Amino acid sequence: MQLLEVLIEYAKSSLNRPFSYSYKGEKELSKGIRVLVTFNNRHLVGYVLNVTKTDKTIEELNQESGFEILEIEDIIDESPLLNDELLALLDEASSYYLAPKISFLHAMLPPSLSPRKSSLKAPRIAYDYFYEIVNDDEENLTNKQIELLRFIKREGRVLKREVSKAKYVLKMIETGHIREVKEEKRRLKIPDYHYEEPPELTIEQIQVIEEFNKSEDLVYLLQGVTGSGKTEVYLSLSEQTFAQGKSVLMLVPEISLTPMMVEYYLHRFSNHVAILHSELTPAERYDEYRKIARGECQIVVGVRSAVFAPLQNIGLIVLDEEHTESYKQDTLPFYHAREIAIMRARYYGAKVLLGSATPSLESRARGSKNVYHMLFLNKRINDQKLPKTKIVNMLDYHNIDRESYIFSHALREALHQTLARNEQAILLINRRGFSTHVTCRNCGHVFKCPTCDIALTYHKSDNMLKCHHCEYVEPLSDNCPECGSSYLIKTGFGTEKIVEEVKRLFPSATVLRLDSDSAKSRRKVPEIIEAFRKKQANVLVGTQMIAKGHDFPDVTLVGIVLADIGLSMPSFRSSERAFQLITQAIGRSGRKDKPGYAIIQTYLPSHYAITFAARQNYELFYRKEMEMRKLQFYPPYAFLASVTIKGRNEEHVIANAYLIADYLNEQLLEKVQILGPSTPYISIERGFHLRNILIKYVNRELVQSVLNKMQQLFSFNNQYDLLINIDPYNF
Ligand code: ADP
Ligand code: ZN
Ligand code: ZN
Repeated sequence: MQLLEVLIEYAKSSLNRPFSYSYKGEKELSKGIRVLVTFNNRHLVGYVLNVTKTDKTIEELNQESGFEILEIEDIIDESPLLNDELLALLDEASSYYLAPKISFLHAMLPPSLSPRKSSLKAPRIAYDYFYEIVNDDEENLTNKQIELLRFIKREGRVLKREVSKAKYVLKMIETGHIREVKEEKRRLKIPDYHYEEPPELTIEQIQVIEEFNKSEDLVYLLQGVTGSGKTEVYLSLSEQTFAQGKSVLMLVPEISLTPMMVEYYLHRFSNHVAILHSELTPAERYDEYRKIARGECQIVVGVRSAVFAPLQNIGLIVLDEEHTESYKQDTLPFYHAREIAIMRARYYGAKVLLGSATPSLESRARGSKNVYHMLFLNKRINDQKLPKTKIVNMLDYHNIDRESYIFSHALREALHQTLARNEQAILLINRRGFSTHVTCRNCGHVFKCPTCDIALTYHKSDNMLKCHHCEYVEPLSDNCPECGSSYLIKTGFGTEKIVEEVKRLFPSATVLRLDSDSAKSRRKVPEIIEAFRKKQANVLVGTQMIAKGHDFPDVTLVGIVLADIGLSMPSFRSSERAFQLITQAIGRSGRKDKPGYAIIQTYLPSHYAITFAARQNYELFYRKEMEMRKLQFYPPYAFLASVTIKGRNEEHVIANAYLIADYLNEQLLEKVQILGPSTPYISIERGFHLRNILIKYVNRELVQSVLNKMQQLFSFNNQYDLLINIDPYNF
C-alpha cells in the first residue's frame, strides 16, 4: 500500500498542512500529481506532496495516527506537474512568505492544472488534425482522388477540416495513400513577425552590457533616465542569452500598457516567444504553459504571475519598471516577483536585471550597498533634452484660472498653445487615495496623525478623521488648527471632471480618457493608446496608468492636474509614489524632435518629492527620502510584515487581534516595533471584519520564526483566519 501526504484546497488560508490518504491500487504514484479525495464529506482536489510505501495494514495505520485514513478516490495526473526546480521553489517561496503551499500552487499553475475542483472542468488540450501523404502512387485512383493527392503533396499537409468529408477521401486512408495526424494546437494566435535588425548600440549601452557580462553578480539594477534605451539593453542581453542555449524571462508591469515590449520581442525571437498575462483565456494560458514546459519556447514575456513560467535552464530574468507595485501580489500568497525571480536565478546560476528610471528605494538602497550591482544610463538617446517644467502653487488664487478651479492660468495657456500647434497633451491625475484627506486651502496644513505623522483619512459615514496605522480618530473640525481658516477642503476630483472641463474650455479639442473605469475591459487599453498615438485625439486624460513607458512622439505637454493626492495618501510610500509618478509622467513629454514642457499643479509646491521630480533628479530625492525613512524606521531601514485577522464576528476578531498582538509583543523585543491592532480603511470585506497588526523589524530570521510559531499557535481556531503579508506595500 502507498501512503500519501496530500495538500487540499481549503477555504481557510492559514491551514498549511497535508493530510494522509492511502492508495491500494497497482500504479506507482509519484509526488507532484493531483488526486481526487473526500474531506469532511466533500469531494476535493488534492496535490500529492509525498508518497511512502508501507507494509502495514490500514487498521494499524489508523491506530497509529488516531484517525481514519481514507483512500483516495481517483488519480488525476499521470506525471508530476512541476519540475525539480519549481518544486524547490515551492518550498523556498512558501517558507519565505509563510504562505500555504497550496496558495503558491494556485499561483504557479494555470487554471487547467491547478489543484482545485474547478480545474476538472477547465480547458483540455486542443488538437489540429491534418492529412499527410503516405504513398503518392496515382494508379487506381479516381480523378477527384488524384486532385486531392496532388493538392496535399503540394501543400505538404492539409488541415482535415479544410478537406471534404466525402467517402472518396476516407477511402484513400483505407488504401494507405494518406493518413491522419494530430498535433497540439496553440489557441493564442500570434501573428508572424519578420526579424528586425537591432539599431547600432550607443556607447553607454555597450558599456552597460560589457559590465553586465564581466560581472559574476546575481542581481543588477539598471537605472536609466526616461528614453535612455533600456529596452534595447534588455533585447541585446536576451539575444546573447538565447544564443548560449539558455532561456529568458522578461517581466513587464502590465501587458496592455506595454504592447510595444511584446512586439519588440516578437520581432527578435518570433516563434520562440510565449506570452503569459491575465487577459489570456484559460485555454490560451494552458497552451502557452505547456509549450514552455515542453521547451518549445525559450523566451517568455509576461506579467507578475509569469515569474513562475516553467522555463528550464534560465539564463536571464528581467523586470522592467522594477519599482511598479503590480509586481507585488496583494492577495495570498502575497509574493513579490522580484524575490521569486532571485530565488529562481540562484537555482540556475542565472542573472536578474532590474530596470527603472526611478528605482524603488529598497532596490536602490541594495544597489548602494553593493547587494545589487548598479548600472547606469545617464543620457537620453540622441541627447534629447528632458522637458522644461513649471510648478504652479494652487494655494495662491492669483494662479488659478477664473473660469475653472481645476486649471491654473499656466496650464490653460500651455494647453491652448499646444492645441494651436496641433501637438498633443497628456493631463494626468493620481487617483490613489481619491477624496480621502483634508487640507487647509489657506495655509496648506494637512490633518495628520499625532503619533504616526501620516495624513488622516476622512470617513464620510461618521464625519471623522481616522489614522489607518493606529487607532487614532478625531472629529472633523471646522477650522484649521494652524491658521484658523475655515476654508478646509476634502481633496479629490476624478478624470471625468477634467474631461468635462477640457471640453468646456476648449470646445474644439478631441479628448480620450484612460483610467480603470474607462478600461473595465483591459483589452480596451491598447485601443485607446493606439488611437491617441494615431492622433485621433489631441488630449489624453488619465490616471497613473498613462504615466508609464509609452512613446508618443507628438506629445509636447504633460499637465499634472493635481500632484498632491499621492502625497497625502496614508502611506510611508506617498513621497516615493508621487516622485515616481511625476518623473515618469514628465518623461512622456518631448521624446522625439520637438521640445517638451510639463506643468505640475500642487498645493505643496515646496515638497521635496515635487521639486526633485520637476528637476528629474533621482539622486537628491533618494538621499532626502532615505533620511525620512531612517527617522521613521521604515523600509529600506526596516522590514515590514503585516498580520490580518479576519472573521465574521467583530468582537471575536478584535479580542483575538489583541491576543495575537500581545503574543508578538512578548516574543519580539529587540529592534522591533509592533503597531496595532488597527482598523484598516476597508474594515469589512464580504461580511468579514478585518484588523491589522504591522511589524517593523530588522532581523528577518527571528521575525519569520516567530510568525511561524504564531501561525501554528493561532491557526486552529474556527472564529477567524490569519493572513500574513511579508513585505506588504500598502501601509
Ligand atoms: P527607456 O525604456 O529607457 O525609457 P526606450 O528603450 O523606450 O527608453 O528607448 C527610447 C527610444 O530610443 C525608443 O524609441 C528606442 O527605439 C530608441 N533607441 C534605443 N536604443 C537606440 C539606439 N541604440 N539607437 C537608436 N535608437 C535607439
Ligand atoms: Zn490653515
Ligand atoms: Zn496613527
